[in-house]
Amino acid sequence: GPLSYRCEQPLAPGRLVRVPLGSREVLGVVWEQAGQPPAGWDAAQIRPISAALDGLPPLSAGWRQLVSFAARYYQRGLGEMALSVLPPALRDLDSIQLGRRLKRLDKKGNKPADTTGDDPVVQADTRPEPSDEQQAVLDALPTIDKPVLLYGATGSGKTEVYLRATERVLDEGPTTQVLVLVPEINLTPQLEARFRARFEPRHGTAAVVSLHSGMTPAQRLSSWLAAHAGQARIVLGTRMAIFASLPGLRLIVVDEEHDPSYKSQEGARYSARDLAVYRAKVETEHSGQRCQVILGSATPSLESWHASEQGRYARLEMPGRIGGGSLPRLRVVDMNHQPKGATLSPPLLAAMEERVARGEQCLVLLNRRGYAPVLACDACAWKSQCPHCSAFRVFHKIDRTLRCHHCGFTQRVPRACPDCGNLDIAPIGRGTEQVEEQLAGLLSHVRRPDGAPARVARMDADTTRHKGSLEAQLDALHSGEVDVLVGTQMIAKGHDFRRITLVAGLNVDAGLFASDHRAPERLFALLMQAAGRAGRDAGQSRQSEMWIQTWHPGHPLFHALKRYDYPTFAAQQLAEREAAAMPPFGHQALLRADARTQQTAQAFLQMAADLAEDLPGRAEVTLYPPVPLTIQRVANVERAQMLVEAASRGVLQRFLGAWQPRLLDGRQHPASRGLIRFLVDVDPLSV
Ligand code: ADP
Ligand code: ZN
Ligand code: ZN
Repeated sequence: GPLSYRCEQPLAPGRLVRVPLGSREVLGVVWEQAGQPPAGWDAAQIRPISAALDGLPPLSAGWRQLVSFAARYYQRGLGEMALSVLPPALRDLDSIQLGRRLKRLDKKGNKPADTTGDDPVVQADTRPEPSDEQQAVLDALPTIDKPVLLYGATGSGKTEVYLRATERVLDEGPTTQVLVLVPEINLTPQLEARFRARFEPRHGTAAVVSLHSGMTPAQRLSSWLAAHAGQARIVLGTRMAIFASLPGLRLIVVDEEHDPSYKSQEGARYSARDLAVYRAKVETEHSGQRCQVILGSATPSLESWHASEQGRYARLEMPGRIGGGSLPRLRVVDMNHQPKGATLSPPLLAAMEERVARGEQCLVLLNRRGYAPVLACDACAWKSQCPHCSAFRVFHKIDRTLRCHHCGFTQRVPRACPDCGNLDIAPIGRGTEQVEEQLAGLLSHVRRPDGAPARVARMDADTTRHKGSLEAQLDALHSGEVDVLVGTQMIAKGHDFRRITLVAGLNVDAGLFASDHRAPERLFALLMQAAGRAGRDAGQSRQSEMWIQTWHPGHPLFHALKRYDYPTFAAQQLAEREAAAMPPFGHQALLRADARTQQTAQAFLQMAADLAEDLPGRAEVTLYPPVPLTIQRVANVERAQMLVEAASRGVLQRFLGAWQPRLLDGRQHPASRGLIRFLVDVDPLSV
């Protein structure tokens, strides 16, 4: 919580200061002016602030309210929340260093973009006439005061709507600002290129900045300062950008709003999408001018869809694809009738051969990187278990390693079975590396129209680790160098590929029967997004195809997918959720405990439940018994959780708020010895 400091001059709330804390000096934010020392203190006992950071305008009331709300809602300390969302580099600056930074920013200035030079980005932009559907959405936006759900098919041109809406906001005045959130860092360079091309010619080279975790601390600080000082008019970023200081904020766009990466999985477990809705409301209240929020998706989250069905959000729809093309035809392959052990069924392989021979491209989606998920001994029970986690280490053939995808533990593949010395240790199951290898072999006889052999490439977290490698791989695909691209879900998202006419999904069944109630929703979204990569050029769309290999071809999810019928799918899922009182019909939080032993972790949760017995609202809340996480142990830490449910958000929030201080006290209890940490996850993504 806030601490009291003394200061001779009154300092406005939101000012950044340096203050003594124990023997250190740290960054602080003035939260409010007290006027009086707190009860029981006399002014002389209160330490003075060390310095105010001059030259920086205060953080706005809207920003402070956002941070207070996030801290309260997600059960974190206010100070922890505020400090964790400011750029880390800000923590070490004194007034002089800050002054230098600001001067540098000024000096770099805002020059008009050079549209005559050969910057390809700036030259490439042509501003297309909006389609009828886009125009209808653009006409409706100014009349809407609620959050907007833009439900637009993949390829319907949602980005152009964002660009036009942004343009309108920038034209409203010289200080207005726009925040655009995207799910993946991988997608920011492309989007940034489009926004720069569109806005730099008119608004200058400083108008667009990015904010994401792939940037260096210095880059982040400079983007943050530019946004805070109002020089940057558009901030593009991943979920962390929701906390950017934007004094002139008038529009927030959340692209692919259903994407799980908007929910933080570390520290304060906030949802940037939900905070975007909150922030738009707060900014509107504080500035008296409308700040609009647009949530865009072809497969909205069930939460947002439900809100739009109820009328809490306004839904605008763009069902058609630009150019009038249709989504690819769905072909479901029943793996029960395919040769045993085949990764790629013969009909799918034949279809791919045909495409490549015609000079078209294929995309093969497999949500598992590495060569094989497990390595096992033929003679004994040895498997490539990670010694630190309750998970198998994945076999990566390229560098002959076994790597744990949970804790990172990596070893060279043993020559022989470590337990029995048998030389036959074999991979079980398949990952992207293996499919890439197999496809290269299976397609080696196929010639492209130019006579060259078919080229197979792979794109996943392993191949894109190095800076610039993703762009290089995307270029190879765009230029037609690559005929078949194998990859994880990374390849399904957002990319505007032009010559892909076949998309195949392998091993999709895990999403059909997972214990997690959101798994089908995620699978549906992923397959819809993947389908959207095919047939983007109208000329090809008629013959483009989406292939799914499954052992359960009769599953209702595929029926809905066949017609790309999201509303029907959503209605089914929502009916199931309602019957089970699950979100958005009920509200959930998880209390998680990490400890040296599973017993300690569960004992802490049990104690937490006991401590809750006499809390207000306890009767309206359901506490489930403590259980181990699906992956129970990671890096030698045992993990357990307890699900907390309530019918209303308010009840759950009041309960959690009252519980938190008891949990903190509970850490001191002897029964908690060996507890490493506990955390509360409000609105968890998976249970
Ligand atoms: P979405 O994000 O909805 O999947 P995109 O924004 O990627 O769709 O748009 C699909 C393609 O259509 C892009 O190549 C884009 O440049 C193009 N496009 C969008 N709007 C128009 C338009 N009004 N006229 C011509 N082309 C457009
Ligand atoms: Zn063995
Ligand atoms: Zn491990």
